[in-house]
Amino acid sequence: MKLVRFGPKAEERPGIWLDNTPTPGQASILDVRAMAFDIEDFNAHFFAGHGLARLANLLREEHPALVPAAGLRLGPPVARPGQIVCLGKNYAAHAAEFDAEIPDAPIFFSKAVSALNGPYDPILLPRAARRVDGEAELAVVLGRRAQRVPEAAALDYVAGYTLLNDVTDRDAQRTGRQWYRGKSADTFGPLGPFLVTRDEVADPHNLRLFQRVNGHSLQDDHTSRMLFKIPFLIAFLSATITLEPGDILATGTPGGIGSARQPPVLLRPGDCVEIGADPLGLQRCSVVASA
Ligand code: MG
Repeated sequence: MKLVRFGPKAEERPGIWLDNTPTPGQASILDVRAMAFDIEDFNAHFFAGHGLARLANLLREEHPALVPAAGLRLGPPVARPGQIVCLGKNYAAHAAEFDAEIPDAPIFFSKAVSALNGPYDPILLPRAARRVDGEAELAVVLGRRAQRVPEAAALDYVAGYTLLNDVTDRDAQRTGRQWYRGKSADTFGPLGPFLVTRDEVADPHNLRLFQRVNGHSLQDDHTSRMLFKIPFLIAFLSATITLEPGDILATGTPGGIGSARQPPVLLRPGDCVEIGADPLGLQRCSVVASA
């Protein structure tokens, strides 16, 4: 299934995206709340309460509540997760372009949940920011509470996968002695468009992952090249930190980011940033100067 949240910002409703419905070439959204009033949103409560199994049942009902998808705004496909845990330098090519040090243990940092944004919403450039660029990333959404999970069972704790653009203010990142502020400005976390459930992603380490700015390719790599793989990361983190349903683990970005290029490719008002991975869809965000 492809889970989406649709509607105005902060008023999104949970839905299931249906391609080629009702006719080929068109898409519609099954309005989950119209059919199951107690499913308020795709939040921790939903994932913990076997929500995905309930959605599968809704799809089998005879008269699903469908709305045409065209023209509807999509929000992030997860409602207000408890935390966003990010990986720094989880691809060798990105580690090389960042500071030439390949990590021998995963580097975790946090991105503010308040940075999350819809997959087609504008990215707002903070007034003082001069060096902002994007990072295409595969994001893992937890489906169960994970505590001391063995690596071999780790993927059982995953609800599904989505895309995160880990937008970064490089000046704030480099001068801050921590990355939190440079990674967490409002709108610096476009998420989605879909949360694709785990059963539809045969191997999360077999995805082509890319970023384009104004149609020009910046990143084009493959999730097989992650230094630390998802089962290891979940086992390593959950050994000491409880991960809750709905929490997001962003798995790091490949090489090719704009700020590391010569000349640098930095986001300017009017730019169009796209990130994608074949089964997870495509994000497309315009860049806008903050008021
Ligand atoms: Mg990143």
